[in-house]
Amino acid sequence: MALDYDIVVVGAGPAGSLTAKHAAVAGANVLILEKRPEVGSPVRCGEGLDKNGLARMGIKPDKKWIANEVKGAHIYAPNGRCLELKEGMAGNEVGYVIKRDIFDKELAKDAIRAGADIMIRASAIEVIKKEGAIAGVKAKHMGERFEVSAKIVVGADGFESQVGRWAGIDTTVKPKDIYTCFQYDMVGVDIDSDYSDFFLGSCAPGGYAWAFPKGKHRANVGLGLQVTKIKGKGEPKRYLDAFVKARKGLSKGTPIAHIAGAVSVCAPIEKTVGNGILLVGDAARQIDPMTGGGIVNSGIAAQIAGKVAAESIQAKDYSTEFLSRYEKGWRKELEDKLYRNWLAKEKLTSLSDDTINKIIEAIAEYDIERISVLELLKAVKAKYPELVKEFEDLLM
Ligand SMILES: Cc1cc2nc3c(=O)[nH]c(=O)nc-3n(C[C@H](O)[C@H](O)[C@H](O)COP(=O)(O)OP(=O)(O)OC[C@H]3O[C@@H](n4cnc5c(N)ncnc54)[C@H](O)[C@@H]3O)c2cc1C
Repeated sequence: MALDYDIVVVGAGPAGSLTAKHAAVAGANVLILEKRPEVGSPVRCGEGLDKNGLARMGIKPDKKWIANEVKGAHIYAPNGRCLELKEGMAGNEVGYVIKRDIFDKELAKDAIRAGADIMIRASAIEVIKKEGAIAGVKAKHMGERFEVSAKIVVGADGFESQVGRWAGIDTTVKPKDIYTCFQYDMVGVDIDSDYSDFFLGSCAPGGYAWAFPKGKHRANVGLGLQVTKIKGKGEPKRYLDAFVKARKGLSKGTPIAHIAGAVSVCAPIEKTVGNGILLVGDAARQIDPMTGGGIVNSGIAAQIAGKVAAESIQAKDYSTEFLSRYEKGWRKELEDKLYRNWLAKEKLTSLSDDTINKIIEAIAEYDIERISVLELLKAVKAKYPELVKEFEDLLM
């Protein structure tokens, strides 16, 4: 089997489906390859999504995939002090707990409605190189090998991305910039379903723990640990079990699913385009290094990726120079925040429980106007300027 498309997108996560949709809307002939037998499943996500972010992805909320709407966030210090951030504050970075499997399927359907084709159980195994450019992919579908010729290959293949590496783009992430995550989908928990909860400190070394309510007695309860702080196999589960056991409302619950995965929490990488190739979403390391949330950034970058890829097809110019319009576009939208939040993450991972307690106390005293990492950092700066002095200029 040999196929021929303008654009082949590897991966049908939010990054891939949205890139495909925007490229197809702009007139390109697009194929999505997805290696899993079902788009969006199994879910590997805490399923937290903020309202403003959703709007920036160009997506309207839909009750089909909204499991719960929250009114704000609780941030817990190691000593139990709780900082309450309410929805009334502008710039809300919390909002919905979604059903990721349905969300991803809806995005794939949107791409198909826009004219894109999709093949599931189709795994890209290599890129095709011709005269110094990427010219398609070799793939496997149910054991059968085939080739897709394409003017542009989009690597939207997630955290474990190989497309970038095959094409010679360095997407390596240092172990200190990786969180290993473990999560339970729990039923029978007794928590406030109006708030997403975040827990800082030694309950999740180098990262944080979360409880995102999916309904009255159901929640995604998980944690992310900095890989360099993990001493042995099975440690993320041990930390999660200890975390759950120590909290009355959670320990009443029962896990009905175990979810393991990883996220990159690195500074922006140097390059996400090449001749005939671009990377988007987790494959391009566009995940927020402070929160580990990547859905929104994937969606923002994907809109630009789809548009630029389609323009490149129209212009018959698939060169690095042309595709750099995508690189410039996503960096303009995301790079400062990614860099600032990476510096903040670097700092947070070095702090003791005692210092984190003090910081939460300082933030509680500060009159926060918005729920955002930037606003929290400004509050830290007011009391402990030395903690943020290396990146003070990014807090404007
Ligand atoms: C435990 C955990 C909790 C998280 N919680 C949140 C959260 O609450 N909120 C948030 O915003 N983000 C969260 N994230 C991050 C979020 O899941 C990702 O940022 C998001 O999925 C990125 O979308 P993507 O399309 O780039 O990649 P993905 O969603 O990973 O999609 C990549 C797709 O590519 C496919 N693929 C891979 N290789 C190939 C190949 N060779 N051929 C064909 N297909 C291929 C995969 O099967 C997959 O479907 C979490 C991540 C983890 C691990």
